Amino acid sequence: MQGVLEQVAAGVRSVVGQGKQAVSIPALARVPLNRFGMAVATADGDVVGVGDWDEPFSVQSLSKLFTLALAGDMRDRVGREPSTLAFNSLSQLELDEGRPRNPFLNAGALVTTDQLLSTTGDAAAALRGFLAAESGAEVAVDLSVAESELETGHRNAALAHLIAGYGNLHNPVTDVLRNYVHSCAIAMSCRDLALAGLFLARTGRGRATQVLSASDARRLNATMLVCGMYDGAGEFAYRVGLPAKSGIGGGVLAVVPNRCVVCVWSPGLDRCGNSVAAVAALEIFSALTGYSVF
Ligand code: GLN
Repeated sequence: MQGVLEQVAAGVRSVVGQGKQAVSIPALARVPLNRFGMAVATADGDVVGVGDWDEPFSVQSLSKLFTLALAGDMRDRVGREPSTLAFNSLSQLELDEGRPRNPFLNAGALVTTDQLLSTTGDAAAALRGFLAAESGAEVAVDLSVAESELETGHRNAALAHLIAGYGNLHNPVTDVLRNYVHSCAIAMSCRDLALAGLFLARTGRGRATQVLSASDARRLNATMLVCGMYDGAGEFAYRVGLPAKSGIGGGVLAVVPNRCVVCVWSPGLDRCGNSVAAVAALEIFSALTGYSVF
């Protein structure tokens, strides 16, 4: 596997640096575009990596995956269909009448965060505790990123108020937004994220706990495949063929059921908010290994 990762890193060298950092969160625009890291955690719990695989980065929407795993069944309040509009679209939410189309859109994650807030009293802390237990590492929030997003996050505030207007939030909007932003501002490395996500490749069995039942883990992977890369999910399924979730910090976490979890990071994003180099790396990885769900 180490040899495969070296080959992937060599293959994406000319792509690293393409795309742009997220503009919606000013603190993310300061991260150098030339970073690239990739880690593979195998089902037996080993982990190998290449490049900046041990450097923490802002997990952003990768957090939505874990929040959803902890929130439980959300079908009454959030859909499961792919979206054709941007991940932070207000029009999509209005068309869907306050029941967000899927749990990986910002609107959907605000509702799953609200649910986790109701069951735990502190959704962001519950998430950090889970990630620390599963990765075996300390998990911190980058407060400069959280503050930056709280200052400029008018669109997420608008989404939260619109959801509340439809009666689909149970907690005060400000509490939901704070928990959402502190979940997104968690900083972790590719190594620790791949380990924390291992339950997705092991029929729900995490390193510390049984995170999900086998059938719920399968459903979460299905949701990732269809919705995890937003309006780029079809292109990603075509090029890579694995369930995956992206974040605008430049991370992408992909699952090879029963084999491994791969986490790739490079900050330059495409128009959908997916890392250009991480997608390219996963395309090379799936071609070299033959790993695909198809
Ligand atoms: N915190 C980011 C936002 O709300 C997460 C979006 C993302 O990573 N796609 O805009």
